[in-house]
Amino acid sequence: MRIAVVAERRPGERRVAALPATVAPLVRAGHEVVVASGAGVAALADDDAYRAAGATVVDGDVLTGADVVLHVRPLLPADAGALRPGAVTIGFASPATEPDGVRALRDAGATSFAMELVPRISRAQSMDALTSQSLVTGYRCVLEAAVRLPRFFPLFMTAAGTVPPATVLVLGAGVAGLQAIATAKRLGAVVQAYDVRPSSADEVRSMGATFLDLGLEVLEGSGGYARELGEDRAQRQREALAPYVAKADALITTAAVPGRQAPLLVTSDMVEAMGPGSVVVDLAAESGGNVQGVVAGETRQVRHATVVGLQDAASAMPADASRLYAKNVANLLALLLDDAGALALDLDDEIVDAACLTHAGAVRHAPTRLQAG
Ligand code: NAD
Repeated sequence: MRIAVVAERRPGERRVAALPATVAPLVRAGHEVVVASGAGVAALADDDAYRAAGATVVDGDVLTGADVVLHVRPLLPADAGALRPGAVTIGFASPATEPDGVRALRDAGATSFAMELVPRISRAQSMDALTSQSLVTGYRCVLEAAVRLPRFFPLFMTAAGTVPPATVLVLGAGVAGLQAIATAKRLGAVVQAYDVRPSSADEVRSMGATFLDLGLEVLEGSGGYARELGEDRAQRQREALAPYVAKADALITTAAVPGRQAPLLVTSDMVEAMGPGSVVVDLAAESGGNVQGVVAGETRQVRHATVVGLQDAASAMPADASRLYAKNVANLLALLLDDAGALALDLDDEIVDAACLTHAGAVRHAPTRLQAG
């Protein structure tokens, strides 16, 4: 079987879907692995490292004739068009926001697996790229705040006097938010956090942070995710959060609702009330932003506050982000192979069924089918 590893083509993307450590077992199992030249360089895997793992490195097209294609960001529609019917693709597919790409995969007759559709059940944890990449982005966003804050995060008691610790407020305590809390704690900050899901309060406290009890009703949707708030509830939440935002040295926002634009948690007025030197890092900037007026990839000044619209946060740490992602991809691929190493798609398997986006000329994932037409 010919397994292709693409060089990511989207601007700002520095991760790779397979590393020499995940290529070597595939080669040992008798597969031909073809890697686009330079695909892993930013992730600290050069062409020679892939060759040493038994792969063939080629300049240019790796898609034509591939049986399996491994990628990070969604394939561009033109690239999907180069796939042979029946080819299997594994990678992020952004089904909710990139219907053209989904249609291209469908029309090519590809069997595509979308990493964001892998169900969040125990058996699929080793394939859960949303979690592994959120770990990277949650860590990274705190570093982005720390380097911009003109103050220390930790308390220092020195002969020259005592320096109080910074106060960090984290809004949204899912996988990325909890990692942001852990990272800010490791750096010594005093950390407060808030999330709409009731189960998040204990998780926040277990990290040594203070959970803000705003006295508002809690909300949890299906699958342990948040539900979108009604405007009245959202407004009351913003009002209740305003004094905490005003006092924070660093504000980190990570809130998301699956398939929706990111909820607006912080208005410009709230940011304008923050103190001198304060920093805001919005991890949700790419999906609309939790902070009013934020633009992904841009840093701007709102009165005293430096507001960062974080973009490609996982790609800022391509080596470890790729290490985790490549393992997620390898584990999902293993689920699609039989003991002899041949493709054997069991569409009755809960994980295979949920993650399969297109198959045999149709969009299998029902919500995406409605959108892609
Ligand atoms: P996510 O990225 O969709 O959302 C991030 C956080 O934003 C969530 O905690 C959500 O509750 C919060 N949020 C949404 N709207 C908000 C608002 N208006 N105000 C404040 N916070 C808001 O979620 P995620 O981090 O990918 O995961 C969320 C849940 O899934 C968690 O319960 C997590 O433990 C669970 N999970 C389970 C597994 C598993 O069982 N294998 C794996 C990963 C995650």
